[in-house]
Amino acid sequence: MRPSEISQLLSGADDAGLFSAADALTRQNFGDEVYLRGVIEFSNHCVNNCRYCGLRRANRKVHRYRLAVEEILACAALARELSLGTVVVQSGDDYSYSREDIARVVTGAKEIADVAVTLSLGDRPESDVLYWREHGADRYLLKVETFDEALYAKSRPGLRLADRLARVESLRKAGYEVGSGIITDLPGMTPDILASDLMRLSELDLDMIAVGPFVPSPDTPCGDAPPGSVLTAFRAMAVLRLLNPLANIPSTSALNALRDGAREQGLTVGANVVMPSLTPETVGGDYAIYPGKNALRADAAARLEAARAAVRRVGRVPSTSVGGSKRRRHG
Ligand code: SF4
Repeated sequence: MRPSEISQLLSGADDAGLFSAADALTRQNFGDEVYLRGVIEFSNHCVNNCRYCGLRRANRKVHRYRLAVEEILACAALARELSLGTVVVQSGDDYSYSREDIARVVTGAKEIADVAVTLSLGDRPESDVLYWREHGADRYLLKVETFDEALYAKSRPGLRLADRLARVESLRKAGYEVGSGIITDLPGMTPDILASDLMRLSELDLDMIAVGPFVPSPDTPCGDAPPGSVLTAFRAMAVLRLLNPLANIPSTSALNALRDGAREQGLTVGANVVMPSLTPETVGGDYAIYPGKNALRADAAARLEAARAAVRRVGRVPSTSVGGSKRRRHG
């Protein structure tokens, strides 16, 4: 697809055609199955200061928490009990967990629950990332947020796009299934930047691609910026599906934070994954990258059942499989 075609589709030139083509391609490659990943948000501490993020270091209004390794493993056990094939172990950039701590999480989750383990821990040293891979970690999610160098530097003070991209590459070399993604309508993002971001993301030939709309978080420098458009996020997801037929594409919880029911609708425009939170009720409301993310403080089983019901409402089947990368199996 040429950049000009992407721009046209992002401007809404043919939403019906775009969404139905993306949906057909998703069904062709994944059937009716939707993979579920249980997310364990084990720490909301972060050393970074991304301007759009509620977990940024400078935000003193967030009640910070950390789960012990045993508590994380209890969540993994719950994942297995609830028939989930994958857990996503996620935190801010929190270096208080040693590489041995995280390795215990990986090996423990495998022993207790026999699940695929995705790590989403931010910018950890390459030696740590290799160590966890050696201990059995299957996937790593490291979002780029935008490929525009100036916007990246502005949005993520003190961090460089080139470094992030180098990390994505080293994850691949380490043998992980690699996921990355962007935020649509990030303050300062133009339609041209978004079109280019979708191209660049696709060039990375990723196993998983996450696109979520910007949701303003209070008490951050972007707190007063307008929320992203759900429709723009849908168009971006659909374009990504056309460009990446075999990638796992989640319908993100950020969609639901902007509009009730948008997450399930995302499953009709190219997404094939949903990621309900398994974070314990006592701390889940504090993992507020943006407001409303864990507002539903039901217990994990109820959250999972809500996600499964949403999948069924759009005529899909919630899968219990690990949902590994088809890109790897087939090419
Ligand atoms: Fe930290 Fe990630 Fe939030 Fe940036 S986006 S402040 S790295 S949790």
